[in-house]
Amino acid sequence: MRNNKFSTRAIHVGQEADPVTGATIVPIYATSTFTQKAPGEHKGYEYSRTGNPTRSALEECLASLEGAQYGLAFASGSAATDAVISLLEPGEHLVSCSEVYGGTFRLFDKIYGRRGLEATYVDDSNPEAFGHALTPKTRMVWLESPTNPLLNIFDIQSIAKLAHENGSLVVVDNTFATPYLQNPLALGADIVVHSTTKYLNGHSDLIGGAVVTSNEALYKEMGFYQNAAGAVPSPFDSWLVLRGIKTLKVRMEAHQRGADEIASFLVDHQAVAKVYYPGLKQHPGHDLALKQMSGWGGMVSFKLYDPTRVDSFFRNLELFAVAESLGGVESLACHPCTMTHATIPEVKRQALGITPQLVRLSVGLEDPADLIEDLQKALRV
Ligand SMILES: *Cc1c(COP(=O)(O)O)cnc(C)c1O
Repeated sequence: MRNNKFSTRAIHVGQEADPVTGATIVPIYATSTFTQKAPGEHKGYEYSRTGNPTRSALEECLASLEGAQYGLAFASGSAATDAVISLLEPGEHLVSCSEVYGGTFRLFDKIYGRRGLEATYVDDSNPEAFGHALTPKTRMVWLESPTNPLLNIFDIQSIAKLAHENGSLVVVDNTFATPYLQNPLALGADIVVHSTTKYLNGHSDLIGGAVVTSNEALYKEMGFYQNAAGAVPSPFDSWLVLRGIKTLKVRMEAHQRGADEIASFLVDHQAVAKVYYPGLKQHPGHDLALKQMSGWGGMVSFKLYDPTRVDSFFRNLELFAVAESLGGVESLACHPCTMTHATIPEVKRQALGITPQLVRLSVGLEDPADLIEDLQKALRV
């Protein structure tokens, strides 16, 4: 099964018919505990924080989609991120790209920073810049690619090589790309993190996360933390993510078709100063994306020329919901500066290019012609 192609694995791995009833779809094992024949004599499950069959199915499927040996599912992407950072000891050093998910930065800075984690943030997408930031104490390098919200691309393979020469682990938050478009482990990463809240579930109806790796020692350590801290997804949420994943391939292809059309429309619009989409030839990461990804995904960001038109643009959208998050079947528009990235200090935001004119779109699965008409109307007023 593990050698099958992506969509086959998405639909089948970890999802054999239920051995007891023959149920074709993995049941929602809504139970906190499991009856043992005698103390210690059980069928592999004892207590649902430690392990639950619906969650196991999801973990196995996610691992397979990333080409990993092991998967761990969490109650949120942030809980998954926390489990990875928990590998670090006080006094150890972390190198991260600057443009990192706001909640990830918050964990680095406000939670682990207070407990002695040292961090260096790299602005430059040149792998050498990461090389220069490494020190003998650097235990981990953290990347997001494409980044949020400017969709910058990092050379995962080159950065992983430099990190490994330094004895540092490489973690990639693969939420934006999804395992359908990018497999960081194949590019040399040690650990991949996902917010399953986004494309993997794909229907904007839950919060979830996951970690995958092929390193047994790291898997065991993070699995220990998963059970100890207990931020596990419910059987129902695990089941919903599993169901979402079955259509990941067709959804990603359709998200991308819509994003392609919308990016082309925006490039030609007179009110738009700049479009950020890796599928555009003029995007600085275009060639690298072609090399390490099999597509661009469904996110498109752009800057308006006129800051005084930002408010009316958002107010006049009808189909695009003004909302945080991304990756669902419905299209969303977000103002990073005041919404998703508001917690980042203004100076840092400015330095990154997250200005008040910046708009981020999560292109959903509505008809692209309708979405373009919606944007056209909102850009006109
Ligand atoms: C949403 C997101 C997270 C955090 O995930 P939650 O499920 O909201 O906790 C982490 N990284 C990226 C890139 C995200 O988009």
